[in-house]
Amino acid sequence: MAERSTIEWTTSTWNPMTGCTRISEGCHHCYAERLARRLKGINPKYANAFKPTLHRNGLEEPLSWKRPRRVFVCSMGDLFHEDVPDDFVKDVFDVMRRARPHVFQVLTKRSERLLDLTKKMELTENVWVGVTVESEQHLDRIKDLTRVSAPVKFLSCEPLLSKIDNLPLDGIDWVIVGGESGVGCRPMEAEWVRSIRNVCVSRGVPFFFKQWGGVNRKAAGRLLDGRQWDEMPDKKK
Ligand code: SF4
Repeated sequence: MAERSTIEWTTSTWNPMTGCTRISEGCHHCYAERLARRLKGINPKYANAFKPTLHRNGLEEPLSWKRPRRVFVCSMGDLFHEDVPDDFVKDVFDVMRRARPHVFQVLTKRSERLLDLTKKMELTENVWVGVTVESEQHLDRIKDLTRVSAPVKFLSCEPLLSKIDNLPLDGIDWVIVGGESGVGCRPMEAEWVRSIRNVCVSRGVPFFFKQWGGVNRKAAGRLLDGRQWDEMPDKKK
């Protein structure tokens, strides 16, 4: 079954693989890692906790969903982790291609492998592909993303950890920004968010402000300059 999601920019999650290893500073307080460790011993799917694990029995689930939905793929891991075999990644993309009523949102920090593997695939119009850019140090991921032949390419600047001046938006269709939440979270300054919002507005790129984050995520809310920013790409479902 797809799981309904409380993530503001999607409606459901689908995890044909789970688990990951940390790759950059954005991973420091990885929510998926914390949750997987909690679920070990409770949910058999997480028997390996956060070790990358394939769930072949869930691979064809999207083909049975009746109502169209927007689905965050591998919210509990990174599909492009080096331990996930090429053929399995291809199988996941094949299912997405066949499950056309649904929109799939694939997000990774492993942009080089994303580019490498998708070169050999047909990416259909219902597959959105994005990379995480938590600081200026990772702008190279955007270069890789823009070379992928996906109909919608998006950036997730979450957790935003520094100001990013002049975020490069050529070939980018959507930008999400969010702060880190939970105990020990690193603060995000309003000026960093406005800087990205302003460049999106000036370039006509849809901007989605997910949350301020902080220790009390709900209390901090998601208003920026008095309004919610919930823009989505035109090709949304
Ligand atoms: S890449 Fe994503 S899933 Fe993997 S450790 Fe980092 S934040 Fe967690």
